[in-house]
Amino acid sequence: MATVVTEHTETEAAKEETMSYMMKRMKEKIKDKKYKMTSQRQVILRTFVNSNIRHMSAEEVFERVKKTAPDIGLATVYRTLDLFTTMDLLKKLDFDDGCSRYELNDHEEEGHFHHHLICLGCGKVWECNDDLLETLESILQKRFHFQTVDHQLKVYGYCEECQKKRAEEEKDEKARHANEE
Ligand SMILES: [Zn+2]
Ligand SMILES: [Zn+2]
Repeated sequence: MATVVTEHTETEAAKEETMSYMMKRMKEKIKDKKYKMTSQRQVILRTFVNSNIRHMSAEEVFERVKKTAPDIGLATVYRTLDLFTTMDLLKKLDFDDGCSRYELNDHEEEGHFHHHLICLGCGKVWECNDDLLETLESILQKRFHFQTVDHQLKVYGYCEECQKKRAEEEKDEKARHANEE
């Protein structure tokens, strides 16, 4: 069964839980390496936790950050997003529309990430949390002796709404042709 998430509406309690989980992970990373926990970084992390949009561009993050912390510039946002990606707190995504997106890497288990279903009609992105690729992994292991650690799948197609729209358009097109003849 596929779990598809379009929007992210969480209760305040759930947000707090995510925030403290992400802070804990950030602290672990800081211990590992020579990163510092600044208040600006916390604000940016908090922006992801509170956002109802799952996949955000740097500009979208900046627009939100500006409201609570006007002293944080776009350059700082870019730098922090890069840093968080290196720290594995965020995942950098490319939906092939010329603009990188970032999302919170807030899954308990390391490694497996969800897949993205991208609609070519309206540009909406759905998430599928099921692995679905176990078979592929075992084939890769057998055939190439390749041990998979992680994978990211992008699936392109049309959402239900866009399928209907396209079917309508096709019908109109056919009707137009029939009239012309
Ligand atoms: Zn669509
Ligand atoms: Zn996602």
